[in-house]
Amino acid sequence: MRAVMALSGGMDSTGLLMRLLSDGYKVSCISYEYGQKHNIELTRACANIKYLEENGFEVEHRIVDLSSAMSIFHSALTSGDIEVPEGHYEEEQMKATVVPNRNAIFASIVYGYALSIALKENTDVIIALGVHSGDHAIYPDCRPEFYDSLGEAFAIGNWESEKVSFHLPYIDGDKVTILRDSLLSCKKLKLDFDTVFANTNTSYNPDERGRSSGTSGADVERILAFHAIGRRDPVEYVTSWEEVLEGALKSQLRYHVMKQNGTERPFTGEYDKHYENGKYHCAECDKVLFTSEDKFDSGCGWPAFSSEAEQANITQLKDETHGMVRIEVRCTDCDSHLGHLFHEFRGPRYCINSICLDFKGE
Ligand SMILES: [Zn+2]
Repeated sequence: MRAVMALSGGMDSTGLLMRLLSDGYKVSCISYEYGQKHNIELTRACANIKYLEENGFEVEHRIVDLSSAMSIFHSALTSGDIEVPEGHYEEEQMKATVVPNRNAIFASIVYGYALSIALKENTDVIIALGVHSGDHAIYPDCRPEFYDSLGEAFAIGNWESEKVSFHLPYIDGDKVTILRDSLLSCKKLKLDFDTVFANTNTSYNPDERGRSSGTSGADVERILAFHAIGRRDPVEYVTSWEEVLEGALKSQLRYHVMKQNGTERPFTGEYDKHYENGKYHCAECDKVLFTSEDKFDSGCGWPAFSSEAEQANITQLKDETHGMVRIEVRCTDCDSHLGHLFHEFRGPRYCINSICLDFKGE
């Protein structure tokens, strides 16, 4: 049983490697140096290969240098003049972290390598990829239809291509699926799960000591995945685990409310009982939406305002969900959901989710 895979040094491919080893494959890994700002991932990949070796698992590992070819590409991950965006991993601005045609290039090389092994060793080879559904929204080259087409094209363009096939065990799963699977694999292999995942990097903007910020979209996704399996991420962050977890949960809630028209639980928001003097800005685009002068205690569990700020120009839409007719309010500038507007006996009440607001005191 022969497998070839790309080992980025991130948690998905590392989890996949554990799975292949526990399934009994002889594995050859390729890591790519492509001018990525977060090339600490390569150091971590090497550390894991060494850890595996110390525990009796021989894994062939090669680092392929593509930095000269890919230095001409435009992406926040490789170009010094573009900032790595922060926030939730499904947000629009995360598209800046796409590297043009990256997975087609990586897959081409893996395919050529797999076919070489197949011919040399006269055996069937699987190409294993750790792609999963969490990547699909922002990275079209992680979608199943892309790999189907690619596999077809490669098969047409090569002799003896029947010896090579793609294997995507996590394509319908997410990072949580991968971590759960890795817990089982590590147990079976008698490897320490925390050591294995401490030897990974997911952050697109680690500091000079290799510590993750906890704030890039990829970080947030990873933190939430560890939280979902009830474990602490063993990787080092610039602040404490409690702090990065709180930030990730906040980012998740903000995305749910502002982009998926969700509602935070009543009496939980930071600004529900907050009466300092100042302005409340849109948490997404920073526009001033409300001022403390119009804030009042409605007792409903969410921040309430009797009026919007001058020039806030908040959008009002008819909302007939949940069996009610309400007026939904959205930030006009960034089209984010904010809450609802009710016309009551005492006058208008803007009932706003705290998580959509950033308060700036006077
Ligand atoms: Zn806004």
